[in-house]
Amino acid sequence: MYEEDDFIDLSGIQHFSFCRRQWALIHIEQQWVENERTIDGSILHENAHNECFFESRSGSLVVRGMRVHSVELGISGICDVVEFLQSPNGVEIIGRKGKWIAFPVEYKRGADKENDADRLQVCCQLMCLEEMLGFNSDTGFIYYGETRHRSLVSVDENLRTKAREMILEMHELLSRGYTPKVRFSNSCNACSLKQICLPKIEGGKSALEYVKAMLSKEDVI
Ligand code: SF4
Repeated sequence: MYEEDDFIDLSGIQHFSFCRRQWALIHIEQQWVENERTIDGSILHENAHNECFFESRSGSLVVRGMRVHSVELGISGICDVVEFLQSPNGVEIIGRKGKWIAFPVEYKRGADKENDADRLQVCCQLMCLEEMLGFNSDTGFIYYGETRHRSLVSVDENLRTKAREMILEMHELLSRGYTPKVRFSNSCNACSLKQICLPKIEGGKSALEYVKAMLSKEDVI
């Protein structure tokens, strides 16, 4: 069981599965570079979040920007959308009749990917919801803005195990404050942090040192 102060951001698992170093640069060294993709993604998330929005239709509830956490995994974050549907396998909700089951829906800018990055994030959201509300499910969704398609995520035991192992590794790296070394891959071409990551290789400095050096140069100019 983790204390709240030790929770890590569950959305980081998408960075971690893409590249452990990218995750560490963002979540340990607090580096971040906005590019067209990340800005578009942020706008999509802002639209989806619209925090405290709550919509009720017959047999379903939709909550946007719902905060979730797991003390067992030591993670927390925000679900873009959580849909509650009435189900005999669900749980009671205060102020609502019947039993309900919840599905996280994550909004992404691009299209469905072959890798598990997005699915791992939804898996973490679902595991949080299960722990908080006391139900079991195997389903989440991702809405892809580019294709305007809602993709089903099967949260099976393989995906859960992968997510749990990655979260453990993230906690371990964070507690050591360790940023993994560069491993060149095709991912580097599409990486929003390559401008920060690559100078570190060339100069042998930490990303933070590199940024400070760049800022001090600008001051002189
Ligand atoms: S440039 Fe490559 S090694 Fe560096 S953070 Fe990005 S994906 Fe990882």
